[in-house]
Amino acid sequence: MIRTCRALADAGHSVHLVGGAVRDLVRGAPGLVPESLEWDMATSATPEKVMDLFPRTVPTGVKHGTVTVIAPGGRTIEVTTYRGEGGYTDGRHPDSVRFVSDIEADLARRDFTINAMALDPGSGALLDPYGGRTDLDAGVLRAVGDPQERFNEDGLRPLRAARFAAVLGLDPASGLVQAMAAATGVFARVSAERKRDEILKMMGASRPSRGLRMLEQAGYVRLLFPGLEKTVGVKQGGWHEHDVWDHTLLCVDNCPAADPRLRVAALMHDAGKPATAQADEGEARTRFHGHEKVGARMAEAWLADLRFRREDQEWICRVVRHHVVMYTPAWTGAAVRRFINRVGEKTVGAVLTLAMADVRAQGRSGHLVPLAEELGRRVREEIIGGAALSIGDLVVNGDDVMVHLGIPPGPEVGRILSRLLDEVLDDPAKNTRDVLLALASRLHGGPEEG
Ligand code: ATP
Ligand code: MG
Repeated sequence: MIRTCRALADAGHSVHLVGGAVRDLVRGAPGLVPESLEWDMATSATPEKVMDLFPRTVPTGVKHGTVTVIAPGGRTIEVTTYRGEGGYTDGRHPDSVRFVSDIEADLARRDFTINAMALDPGSGALLDPYGGRTDLDAGVLRAVGDPQERFNEDGLRPLRAARFAAVLGLDPASGLVQAMAAATGVFARVSAERKRDEILKMMGASRPSRGLRMLEQAGYVRLLFPGLEKTVGVKQGGWHEHDVWDHTLLCVDNCPAADPRLRVAALMHDAGKPATAQADEGEARTRFHGHEKVGARMAEAWLADLRFRREDQEWICRVVRHHVVMYTPAWTGAAVRRFINRVGEKTVGAVLTLAMADVRAQGRSGHLVPLAEELGRRVREEIIGGAALSIGDLVVNGDDVMVHLGIPPGPEVGRILSRLLDEVLDDPAKNTRDVLLALASRLHGGPEEG
């Protein structure tokens, strides 16, 4: 980083450190390792000059002035030419990018005061024309200039506001949430990928609920996840102390921050409740029969619209689909193995983590926590013990069955394999070649299902 700064300075350009790394340095983020910071640099050098100056560069966003410099160790540094504010008419991109020569004009076009600070790498002086440091110390998120104008220029900024509030634990300055609410019209024009990336970053916060609540208050939940806003005010009764929305937020916060996808699943896990609500026990509690299936379908549509990676879409929907776990200690080993088989070995850990977060977010079901722990223990024992949990774990495969029975490939082979798995889930001792092939002979041509 220092070498990159020096190279620019030696060539006669002005250069400053900006962005998230400066923010983290100023707030003295806990556990901060300066070497691991992702550096954003701003410079008076044009993108062409930057590309001339360094042997390895990537023209990441040359139109907007950004070049990625690959430092000798392989670290990357985003170097962006000082920019002034061009006009924004589409709420997405400035109509024209205007390069400027000084850092002050560049800071003026940034979104929030905490993001409008710059460090002079030569003197170590902090440039902070909008009071970002004071706002960070006071825990306030404030727009540079008029929030309404800033949000109307770029429809992503309201979502960034929620993200920064959550990740940095900031409270919105007065008027900020109202300005967000008045900018929803611009939001539709923002690309799905940019929205998705902000959501995933927000989910890495220790408590994403702070940002999610802002989004709900400003009317963005219905734009991002249509139908989820209907969970607000849906009473549940029974073990639930909270309405569906408040419960959802607690559940998100209860999930580990290390897995943003699981937080997304938590956000969506009860989305099907408003559509399935039915009063029970004289209105004292509400039943939500099949809400996990309805929720999984809603999640599928949202995740596709937001361009989540296909494997993440499938994984999240699967977790939502299976989040209702009706465990009792009466479950046999076979029941535990069937549960793992149904949920899938790749998702069962996440389902159990979500189930635990879910129970802890209900308010009146502390007695269920030991049960969730017990199921987790039993699932781990089955997996570590090497029990067969899917067709791939059987000691015979489709070829073995076809050769043994003298039958061609076809649905009959799959039917037999899944019946064999049934038998082995019940009794793992049956997972031997002799037993399974004998069973296959009996099943072939035998009764259909049942
Ligand atoms: P992080 O890297 O943790 O996402 P960051 O603040 O570094 O946070 P970047 O997207 O890397 O965010 O952008 C670097 C800087 O560019 C920001 O700190 C901000 O000053 C400015 N910036 C980024 N996106 C916008 C935007 N949509 N509107 C205005 N300024 C922005
Ligand atoms: Mg950054």
